[in-house]
Amino acid sequence: MSSTLPPFSRRSLIKTGSVGLLTAAAGPAFGAPGPSPLDVGRVEGGRVTFDNWRGAADRPSSPPPAPLPPGQRVGFAIVGLGRLSLEQVLPAFAECRQARPVALVSGSPEKARLVAAQHGIKPSSVYDYGSWDRIAEDPEIQAVYVVLPNGLHRDAVLRAAGAGKHVLCEKPMANSSAEAREMIAACEAARVKLMIAYRCQYEPYNRETIRRVRSGELGSARFIEATNTQVMGPADQWRFKRALAGGGALPDIGLYGLNTARAITGEEPVEVFARIFSPDGDARYREVEESVSFMLRFPSGVIATCSSSYGAHESKDLRVRLERGWIDLENAFAYEGQQMRLGRRDGKAENIGMLRLEQQNQFALEIDHMAACVRENRIPRTPGQEGLQDHLLMEALYESARGGTPVTLDRVAERDATRGPEPEQG
Ligand code: NAD
Repeated sequence: MSSTLPPFSRRSLIKTGSVGLLTAAAGPAFGAPGPSPLDVGRVEGGRVTFDNWRGAADRPSSPPPAPLPPGQRVGFAIVGLGRLSLEQVLPAFAECRQARPVALVSGSPEKARLVAAQHGIKPSSVYDYGSWDRIAEDPEIQAVYVVLPNGLHRDAVLRAAGAGKHVLCEKPMANSSAEAREMIAACEAARVKLMIAYRCQYEPYNRETIRRVRSGELGSARFIEATNTQVMGPADQWRFKRALAGGGALPDIGLYGLNTARAITGEEPVEVFARIFSPDGDARYREVEESVSFMLRFPSGVIATCSSSYGAHESKDLRVRLERGWIDLENAFAYEGQQMRLGRRDGKAENIGMLRLEQQNQFALEIDHMAACVRENRIPRTPGQEGLQDHLLMEALYESARGGTPVTLDRVAERDATRGPEPEQG
């Protein structure tokens, strides 16, 4: 044993209970004053709590995360080990409080074995696409997260529902509204939950934008402007194949503007208009579109203008213009880097301020919301109906682009007609 150890023995540490451990380790051992209750904190309602150590002028620090013990978290099987799964979804589980990854489904055994080992998933819980119906026999798996190319979502959701598992499915929900309806019906018949992974509806800055617009503090909204562009690489990827992608920039990234405009207003558009463009001679755009620009007119008068492209430098911004101010959310649709600015009158001056929120992983918030809905038998904020509505609207947008004229839609009176209750605070 090292001679530099402080003068209390390891045995005395082991003998003390968990609360006593803090006191014994920190206090008299060094002849220093004992810790104050402010610094030790306390266990309250199953979580460690500290009183605020900062002055009233500063923001209090966030409470420590309070994850459930692993055995109480909802076990997820991740279907598809591509970029989103490996770069965002699996790492986000480390920040989840109510969810944990317990199984993988992949067509690449070597990759799946490695990823399972990296994330503490048992080798026996790795399935291939031929055999993954066997997840029905694994009670550790309560939910399935479908992270496959869009054209494979329908079959995967039907198989997960057939195995009696709840489903979180990536956006866009499917390739068409017909497929989306089948997926909803299958999950209803199997009595399992279906949530579409609209992460921005769980992301704190997007939620703050929605809250501020709906609060009326800046008057009523007039315009929503959304841009989601990126430059695509080689042709040999599923996003350029209609059977796997369903479309081009519109369902992949234009969807963010469409879904966000609906989520901000809580309304459904009564008229839509779209223009689509693909460069001549670029073989990548034989089956899907490169660029789309569209307008949505909502019953309250709000007009949303959205642009999306696979051929314009990365830009993922949102702006809402209201009677008495504007909200500008840079990187609104990105994984990170959100910056919110608000403009409003301040006497004779124009006050332009930045709002900085606590940093939170939006994928972890989204996955935890699904887990909470499973644990508490609640309807997710973004259920299958939310995905179906976007497909109906995208079909209207394609129809408008084909005909070169606006398409009129039935008026929906109810607000948030396709959504479940608000998510819990992050
Ligand atoms: P990806 O190409 O990186 O991964 C797709 C995975 O599916 C790969 O591991 C591939 O091997 C597997 N696969 C199985 N069968 C396949 C087939 N027939 N063809 C092609 N691949 C097949 O794609 P990704 O970027 O991870 O996207 C997966 C899903 O996630 C898509 O629905 C996409 O729209 C969605 N997505 C969502 C976000 C978000 O921010 N929420 C971001 C990116 C992608």
